[in-house]
Amino acid sequence: MGEGNGQEVGCSVNLVSRTRRNVLPMAKNKGVRLVVTLECTQCRSNPAKRSPGVSRYTTQKNRRNTTERLELKKFCPHCNSATVHKEIK
Ligand SMILES: [Zn+2]
Repeated sequence: MGEGNGQEVGCSVNLVSRTRRNVLPMAKNKGVRLVVTLECTQCRSNPAKRSPGVSRYTTQKNRRNTTERLELKKFCPHCNSATVHKEIK
């Protein structure tokens, strides 16, 4: 009985160490893979929007390859059309 309990505790300790191990590589890539937010450029100047709010997309870029601000055409549900989304800070 007592031994069984001891094994259960050992299992849960293993799970915790595994979770920590998964976090470490992500922190290592922080310098290169940058998370950027893209915001719809039409939302602010478009008074006839379908719904209030600004469309935003989050993506990742490589800081070494892309030093300038990102611009991507994405579908904006507020403008109900594909618009240019620009990187914001
Ligand atoms: Zn929009």
